[in-house]
Amino acid sequence: MILLLIGPPGAGKGTQALRLANQYGIAHISTGDMFRDISKNPQTALEKEVKEIMTRGDLIPDDVTIGLVEERIKRPDCEKGFILDGFPRTVPQAEVLDKMLENVHKPLDYVFLFEVDDEALVERKAGRLFAPQSKRVYHKTYNPPKEPGKCDETGENLIQRDDDKPEATRHRLSVYQKQTAPVIAYYDETKRITRLDGMGSMDEVFTSLCEEIDK
Ligand code: AMP
Repeated sequence: MILLLIGPPGAGKGTQALRLANQYGIAHISTGDMFRDISKNPQTALEKEVKEIMTRGDLIPDDVTIGLVEERIKRPDCEKGFILDGFPRTVPQAEVLDKMLENVHKPLDYVFLFEVDDEALVERKAGRLFAPQSKRVYHKTYNPPKEPGKCDETGENLIQRDDDKPEATRHRLSVYQKQTAPVIAYYDETKRITRLDGMGSMDEVFTSLCEEIDK
């Protein structure tokens, strides 16, 4: 099973992807997490550039991103299927993904689009808390950890990601409109997109996703 989650930053893709990966026993591939790992301790010129681009809230060049995903989906944990969270984000990425899947004779089973209101997103992202080690995502109001500021799973300290700050979110929303919105048009032409109300509660969104998959 191959699933794809598209939606603006902060729409809840990461949280739902983790739950879906657990539920269906498939791999979770988050290009954002992969780039965050790279920028934690950048060594090469390219890694340093990745960090700078991420801090600005812009997109990493397609060739770098595609290379990373190509390598990742060859790993054994992807054999049963995978969820792509945050990829593709440009039309060239979507075109290359189609070719990659065609080459291994695997169809793209579902494209889910998370629809959300821009200003609500800015607010939602401002309250997000992130656990760097476990990669779990919490929210001060909507999904608080059991103990304030600590991850439920690992006990590590939760942080606010720089890219969750309001001015960064607004910039990333404009990047989404310019570069990722055309990906929606691309899939509308070639595949069936399932649209979800991303403003629903985490459980409501998860239930809708599972209902669609289990049909
Ligand atoms: P995310 O956690 O998915 O919101 O991604 C965080 C950042 O990683 C983005 O703002 C981009 O700088 C970079 N990134 C993640 N996925 C991609 C992608 N598919 N193409 C280009 N850049 C990406």
